Amino acid sequence: MMIENDFDYETRHNHLMIGGVDSVELAHKYGTPLVVYDVSKIREQINHFKSVFEDNQVEYEVSYASKAFASVATYQVMKQENCHIDVVSGGEIYTALQADFPMDKVSFHGNNKSVEELVMAVKNHVGVIILDNFHEISLLNQVLEELNTTTNVMLRITPGISAHTHEYDQTGQVDSKFGFDVESKQAEQALKMVLDNPRMNMLGIHAHIGSQIFEVNGFVMAAEKLVDLSAEWHQKFDYQPQVLNVGGGFGIKYSEEDDPIAPEKFVDAIVKAIKKRSNQKGINLPAIWIEPGRSIIGPAGYNLYTVGSRKDVSGIKSYVTVDGGMGDNIRPALYQAKYEAVIANKANDKPKSTPVRIAGKYCESGDILIQNINLPRTQPGDILAMFATGAYGYAMASNYNLNLKPAVVFVENGQDKLVIKRQSYEDLVRLDLKY
Ligand SMILES: *Cc1c(COP(=O)(O)O)cnc(C)c1O
Repeated sequence: MMIENDFDYETRHNHLMIGGVDSVELAHKYGTPLVVYDVSKIREQINHFKSVFEDNQVEYEVSYASKAFASVATYQVMKQENCHIDVVSGGEIYTALQADFPMDKVSFHGNNKSVEELVMAVKNHVGVIILDNFHEISLLNQVLEELNTTTNVMLRITPGISAHTHEYDQTGQVDSKFGFDVESKQAEQALKMVLDNPRMNMLGIHAHIGSQIFEVNGFVMAAEKLVDLSAEWHQKFDYQPQVLNVGGGFGIKYSEEDDPIAPEKFVDAIVKAIKKRSNQKGINLPAIWIEPGRSIIGPAGYNLYTVGSRKDVSGIKSYVTVDGGMGDNIRPALYQAKYEAVIANKANDKPKSTPVRIAGKYCESGDILIQNINLPRTQPGDILAMFATGAYGYAMASNYNLNLKPAVVFVENGQDKLVIKRQSYEDLVRLDLKY
């Protein structure tokens, strides 16, 4: 049903339901703070993306940008869905290996990959290494020579378009820390080096213009630039990229202030633009790869907290404090990110007209999860459920104040499964040594 805060959610006996499971029961069974993913939502979004490509009859890959939430179970779901994944570290490669994820479907990103990470990637035969800078080209060459082998590569380029949440601009991106600049011919120079290197198989070009983007034009312009560059390289070097990788960044709804189009609509616009431009430029239609992170995993996640103390100061907004905060979701403190929430055990109760502020338990004044929200009158022991916390929440979790990282549960079709255990105090000191 539709409720006041614009999020669709199901209730049973006045409790918030997630994937057919009572969220209040989950909170009691596993404790709080708890991160819950509705896995069917993950699968659904992946299928929406795939449908767009199939309807447009282009070759494609959906590569989940796993930095948004990487875990063994996440990689297992991506494997089941026949997706590719992006990884950005040895840690993510290692975790994908633990999940038996097929390494030929892995794209390895990053602007400062270490020799150890490159060796790990090459030895495990990752599908493609996305080259970011000249230093990396020479490191990778050394690694390939040492291991006497070859690899697929793509070049990450900066298309000169930078997109922000609600806008984009055409010049701002040239000073990005990522990728080869097109304008100054860095990208062309990198291409020559790679084409001349028999150990590197040049698969295509990549551009990622930003994150939590609402504006479709930035994506379309970046896609057109990739086609234009392909056409130019085809002419100059008789080389045409087989793959155009347009990155991710499709914006999602966090609060009532956000009204994005569906993530797959961005992709539809991108695909149509690439088809049209390729046709105009007379080049073969390349395969199109996308790298959504947030839009796949974000809306599927919920953070559950238990309400504790409440501070009412007359004339000032009341603070309702929960048992988590910036340690499990730093986005409000870091980016002033906004979220919606409900009291999971009073899911249909009418909210009070005076808003409250949801505070975390961390020793930082900035540890406020929600600045302003209308909730039913809260009591200690109530369960607060925050929506759309699945991306860059647990992924950025810390042990600040030596609080434990929460447990993570996957739910689907009325079943729940613990997929990351809550940390223990022993875990906290596992690496500590006595002095
Ligand atoms: C972060 C990132 C993504 C995913 O961005 P989202 O906003 O989570 O969709 C994709 N590609 C690259 C290269 C990234 O760095």
